[in-house]
This record gives sequence, structure tokens and C-alpha cells, in this order.
Amino acid sequence: MSSWKLSIGTAGAIGIRKLKTDALPTTAYIMLGEKCTRNCAFCAQAHTSTAAAKFLSRVAWQDTSEDVSIEHLVKAYKLGKIKRACLQVVNRPDSLETVKTAVQDLVAAGLPVVVSGYITSVKEAKGLFDLGVDRIGLAMDVATPDLFAEIKGGSWQKRWELLCSCAVAFPGKMTTHLIVGLGETEAEMWNIIKECYARDITVGLFAFTPLPGTAMADRPQPKIGSYRRLQIAFGLLKRAFSPDVVVCSGGEIVSFKVKNIGEVLADGDAFRTSGCHQCNRPFYNERPGQILYNYPRALSPEELRQAFVESEVVTW
Ligand code: SF4
Repeated sequence: MSSWKLSIGTAGAIGIRKLKTDALPTTAYIMLGEKCTRNCAFCAQAHTSTAAAKFLSRVAWQDTSEDVSIEHLVKAYKLGKIKRACLQVVNRPDSLETVKTAVQDLVAAGLPVVVSGYITSVKEAKGLFDLGVDRIGLAMDVATPDLFAEIKGGSWQKRWELLCSCAVAFPGKMTTHLIVGLGETEAEMWNIIKECYARDITVGLFAFTPLPGTAMADRPQPKIGSYRRLQIAFGLLKRAFSPDVVVCSGGEIVSFKVKNIGEVLADGDAFRTSGCHQCNRPFYNERPGQILYNYPRALSPEELRQAFVESEVVTW
């Protein structure tokens, strides 16, 4: 059996290590492989990154044998502590074979599985669905073609076309990741969120997080106001409001044509981690004790009030 990397939170959630935390993950995150063949400027696993190989985003991962991982994952799943497993696949020449083996073993153990990684064709996606994968994540990460070429390298358009083709072939089964704060405007990010939503592509929204050892280590995180406005816009979309209620000017979201937004979004879901069902990614983008871009749990009434205030366009 091979060795997997479990996020520290996952290792805590499934009982492999003791962990004191505000929020445990509700999805088990498993990284397969290390040191990517690609070179995304924000990523700790990029091949020119000098960050320690145990990091992905700001989360550390621990080596654990596959059989021990599966034994604990199954127990935790039966107890309702985790709802699914997400394989975060680092691009390597053998990554498709590695992921297939892991999928087969997890599916055989009865766990719902998401694969988040780089597939190159609808055929490859079909191969994974045929093995029993529940969902596939194909990350756009970057909102615009120019920034994609600069930050990730390669063609935004090609990846977008592949994501859209997969969304047609496997309706409601595709997820993408979008990272706020890579140089795009709010309006550009809002545009791709809308385009994904229109195609039933689930969006996991991330806040850019500078990591030591990466090419973007010196860039700041996005302004919290900008992130909150995008969360509110996305939250309204999920509540079946027309995208037209979001008013942009000068590249920013400046207002919402909705009365009583505080009541419409009073459950706080708009500010919680978005993405596949039950994916809460605790502290992927933030340190405990700092402002939470994505709340991995329900918000307190004060946190909800604060989130609206931070948006700078919704009064509370
Ligand atoms: S949204 Fe969460 S569960 Fe879905 S692919 Fe992304 S990290 Fe995995």
C-alpha cells in the first residue's frame, strides 16, 4: 500500500492525531503526490516553489499509509464525522494511475469521492466517473485568460472549454475553484462565477493566500470588502436572484438591487465555505484568530453583522 498525505485537520477529524481547533473538516482532504509538473505562481507544490513539500495552500499534510488512512476514514464516515473524501491530485506523469488506484480503494470502502485535479479530456473524466467517483473538480483558479497565462501558464480558454464540455457530459457533477485576489477585478470574478453557475458548475471560492517560497509570496491577500461583496453576489445567485441585481461600476460591485439583504441572507451561508456539499476547508485561507474569508462553520450573530459591515455596501 502506498503513502497518502492527509491534511492535518483531516488527520484530526478521523482520529489519527490529536488536534485542538475551532472547526474540523467535514470533508477528508487527501493529497496524492508532491512537487507538481506545473508551475502555478501561487502554489506551494509548483515545481519552482521552495515551500516545504508538506504544504498545499497554508495547510500542512502528514504522511499516512493508505491502509491506515482508509481504516480511519471508514470509521469516521460511519460516525458521520466526515461526509466524503476529496483527492487533491498533484500533477505528475503517473498521477492518473495513482488517482485511479486511490479511487478504487475508497469507493470499495464505501466512501463518496471527489477528485480535484488536472484532467485533460472528457474521456479521462468519464474514466473516473466509471470508477465510481461522485464529482470531479477542475480548477480554473484564475478569472481571466491574460492572468491565467501569467500565473498558471497555458490556455485559459482550453481549460474553460474542457470544464464546460465536462459540465455538459456530466450535468451537476463538476466543480471548479476560483481564487479571488490574483489581479482580477471584482467584476471579472463575478462574471466567471455567473458563467459557472449558469452551467451548473459548482464554485469553490478561495481567497489568495501568499505562501513563503512561492513566486507570489509578497502579494497581499484580497481586501475583505471585495471578498464579502463577491460572497453576497454569489449568495444571491444561489437564492435564485437574477445576476442583474448585482451592480458593477469601475470594475467593482457597488450595490445590490435587493431589499433587506440582511434578511435574505440571514442564515449566513453566503459567508461560509463554498464548493462541493459539506466541503468546509477550515483555515485554508486564513490563520485561526484572523478574519475568516470562508467560515468553516455557522456564523455567530456578531460575525454575521460584521460580515455585512465588511462588505461596505450593505448596512446592518
Ligand atoms: S470544493 Fe472542496 S470537496 Fe470540492 S473539489 Fe474543491 S476542495 Fe474538493
